[in-house]
Amino acid sequence: MLYRVEGIVIRSVAYGEGNLIVTLFTGEVGKVGVMVRGAKKARSRHAAVTQLYTYGDFVFYKSQASGLGTLNSAELLDGFSGIRGDLRASAYAAYFAELTDRLVPDGEASQFLFEQLKAAYEALSAGKDPAVVAAMLELKLAQFAGFAPLTSECAECGRVPQPEEKAYWSASAGGLVCARCAADRADRMPLPPGAIRLLPVLQRADLRRIGDVSVKPATKRALKEALRRYLDAHADVRLKTRAVLDQIEAVYDEPAEPNETS
Ligand SMILES: [Zn+2]
Repeated sequence: MLYRVEGIVIRSVAYGEGNLIVTLFTGEVGKVGVMVRGAKKARSRHAAVTQLYTYGDFVFYKSQASGLGTLNSAELLDGFSGIRGDLRASAYAAYFAELTDRLVPDGEASQFLFEQLKAAYEALSAGKDPAVVAAMLELKLAQFAGFAPLTSECAECGRVPQPEEKAYWSASAGGLVCARCAADRADRMPLPPGAIRLLPVLQRADLRRIGDVSVKPATKRALKEALRRYLDAHADVRLKTRAVLDQIEAVYDEPAEPNETS
């Protein structure tokens, strides 16, 4: 059967003599592996479209029996050039691809999630804050994978914390926890007020409509730590790209502002 779908390359593995197997993430058929013959040879017409996190229009043949498609042709729709020259954005882009590959189950498709991933790359390419984009995408992927955290009420007792009330994060409890419930949770971490306000906003927000948000460094660090602990607790994701991302983030790490309390 011949397929023609828009997709984003989320994995690329060398195979045999000059060939590649790319994993596309698509809205119509979810994740699909496609063999690209001769992709690694010089002057391959497919060289540009088989690079990681490339958005393209792919035509491939896939039999019912075999899980692997064979590429016929492909057209580049967006190579996200704003990402490729930027070390930090590239590290985030690779992390997004690996996280999507790991969290989306085989055979499950979602046009919405595809649009969210594409929008995440567009936002990175346009120079939006990668930490904010990452938090939004992590929340979307967790939701799709079936383990969305509770972010606006206590995951334990259901109470909505009052503004400026102290609240914590507990991956084992399932997200936000009030101070009283946090006492029983060994994995509690205090959340700065900015992170408490922002988590439900980022969870609801559509990545296609991301504006220019300015988030304090301490808030970003708390969001990153909270979501990382959460993903580690609920999904078995040992991501190769995360180590690279951490090394680069250590170089770029913004110091806390002198009067920053949150
Ligand atoms: Zn509670």
